Amino acid sequence: MPRRSVTDRLRSGEVLLMDGGTGSELQRRGVEVLLGSRGDKLGPWSATANLDAPDVVQQVHQDYLRVGADIIISNNFRTTPTRLAPVGLGGRWKEYAEAGGRLAVRARDAINPEAYVAGGMAAPGLGMLNDRTETDVAIMGEEYGREFAEHSKVLAATGVDVMLPEFVNYIADCVAAVDACAEAGRPVWLGVPMVTTEGITRNGETMEDLAHALRGHPVQAILLMCSRPEAVSATLPRLRQAFDGPIGAYPNVGYNPMAPVGGRVHLGPDIISAQSASPSQLAQYAEEWIEGGAQIVGGCCATGPEHIMAMKVVVDAARRAKAPRAS
Ligand SMILES: [Zn+2]
Repeated sequence: MPRRSVTDRLRSGEVLLMDGGTGSELQRRGVEVLLGSRGDKLGPWSATANLDAPDVVQQVHQDYLRVGADIIISNNFRTTPTRLAPVGLGGRWKEYAEAGGRLAVRARDAINPEAYVAGGMAAPGLGMLNDRTETDVAIMGEEYGREFAEHSKVLAATGVDVMLPEFVNYIADCVAAVDACAEAGRPVWLGVPMVTTEGITRNGETMEDLAHALRGHPVQAILLMCSRPEAVSATLPRLRQAFDGPIGAYPNVGYNPMAPVGGRVHLGPDIISAQSASPSQLAQYAEEWIEGGAQIVGGCCATGPEHIMAMKVVVDAARRAKAPRAS
């Protein structure tokens, strides 16, 4: 575990660099991440890589640490019973979850013992429900929190420093996720996905309502994630106004092509041209967000070490600007 806690560093106003996409980077390196995927519906995504390609998972983490990431997110996005069950691996979820935590901790210990590992967990899976108006927690009841709590405890035992429930959709789900993940006894950050250029969530909920609902709940930081950079720029100022704690962002720059899925190859844009922002463009966004109060910046889908390497330049500049000047 790092000598100085991430809580202290955030409290002191420091800006921290997060890693970029893990699942999309594994896909780019030729690891199967589409088991059980159909059309644009993902299966357990990169979860299976923890046992099928552990060396590549650890290498991705190490590459992010080598270009300067202070925080890496473990490959646990969908290492849960509800996400692994559809491919017949529900009964083995703990093996996949533990391996994800351990690989990230091992990479951290090997490359930069002062870095932090966030245990990143998506919300429990509900199958193929689309166009829902009910929240996940309303549909799943206690089962929703139970999966987050059990997943968090498995990850805490592997040595991760922070719990990061991410891609949590409705405000009611965010509150339940934060409460459940806190049971593992680590600080909890929340990743809110797919905000819009109107400055709200994709379900039309506001940052004010989100922050209000989370008041008194154990959330240390709120991050806008897997959203387009311009949507982060529209929404982050509203989050800054609404929430007193540390804020941050790790946007996507598009999605890798999903081919081949469903037994045939779907040709889309290739991986590089699918990126909606170049490394230096994303770094310019990060500079703007840091000026607007973001303390954690990184990337989500389709970002790679090259994006994080570019963001390191602006994070370092922000640190120099804040550091006390020698006289
Ligand atoms: Zn993403």
